[in-house]
Amino acid sequence: MNPLDLVRPNIAVLKPYSTARDEYRGPLGIFLDANENPYDNNVNRYPSTSLKESLRSRVAALKGVAPANLFLGNGSDEAIDLCYRIFCRPGIDNAIMIAPSYGMYEVCANINDVECRKVQLGEEFALPTEALLAAADTNSKLLFVCSPNNPTANSFGIEEIVSLLERFRGIVVVDEAYIDFSSGKGMLPLLDCYPNLIILQTLSKAYAMAGLRVGLAIASEEIISIMKQVKYPYNIGSDTIQLALKMLDKDISGEVGEIKSERNRIAEALAQMGCVLKVYPSDANFLLVKFTDPTGLYNKLITNGLIVRDRSHTAGCEGTLRITVGTPAENDKLLEVIKHYE
Ligand SMILES: *Cc1c(COP(=O)(O)O)cnc(C)c1O
Repeated sequence: MNPLDLVRPNIAVLKPYSTARDEYRGPLGIFLDANENPYDNNVNRYPSTSLKESLRSRVAALKGVAPANLFLGNGSDEAIDLCYRIFCRPGIDNAIMIAPSYGMYEVCANINDVECRKVQLGEEFALPTEALLAAADTNSKLLFVCSPNNPTANSFGIEEIVSLLERFRGIVVVDEAYIDFSSGKGMLPLLDCYPNLIILQTLSKAYAMAGLRVGLAIASEEIISIMKQVKYPYNIGSDTIQLALKMLDKDISGEVGEIKSERNRIAEALAQMGCVLKVYPSDANFLLVKFTDPTGLYNKLITNGLIVRDRSHTAGCEGTLRITVGTPAENDKLLEVIKHYE
């Protein structure tokens, strides 16, 4: 299977919009080509290609991939939407996804008028490999697997994802938004083996830049080049690029290490409490916890100024709250309120 054969026919023949900044890449001069305001205030010009390329090189080096294998989007949510727009014919094609998982796969499917086929995870949130493949037909273009999965917090085995890559006759999108908190390496080492693999990562979580909106898609050069053609011309602002470059100078390993050890500390403390039925193993920066009375506790937490995510009405997650790991002081407060609730 050649993944390029899966591209929508109108996208395959697309002539991308060519911006002023694309067409002239020579030395600095007097720019009268883009209808900008000429008075310098640092943001009066459209983002330059070289600025975007410097962020691309920087992030590519960080991830150990070639810049040509990296797409930078307005959050990884942009990359999710692009997958639909590139591969799925509205009203005809479909996408397969695990459930429960990240809500944007379904929202983007609905926005793009693409049927969304959800397959429930198995016992202990196991990847239902056979059921996912059984849900596919000739119009199944995308298969989304989130690992570590939001909200169940577990990662799936590399061999299981490889089995999907080898047997699904479409694109497998592996969302690794939480990979920096995981004990595993994820799919990056296998990028060159699977032309139908798209890996999504983000600067929003471990890299502490959720407010900037920078997401990553890592895939074959061919897929990345189509993503670049379909995206909005200037999808990341120059201020964002500059700030991201600056913030990438900071080493995150200390913070990530602390978040992981706090995650383990809260998990152990919660497991001792009577109102806790189960703390699910976490490979991410959040815990999924099953409580005897999730709604009562949720309201009690709110009363104390603590906001968590109520997942108690999500199929497969009944009775659970999803709790993000905070600072040690925030986590202490959380544990204290839950202890008092008992
Ligand atoms: C938070 C999250 C993202 C991040 O999206 P951005 O648009 O990059 O902020 C992507 N996927 C999952 C599963 C997430 O939980």
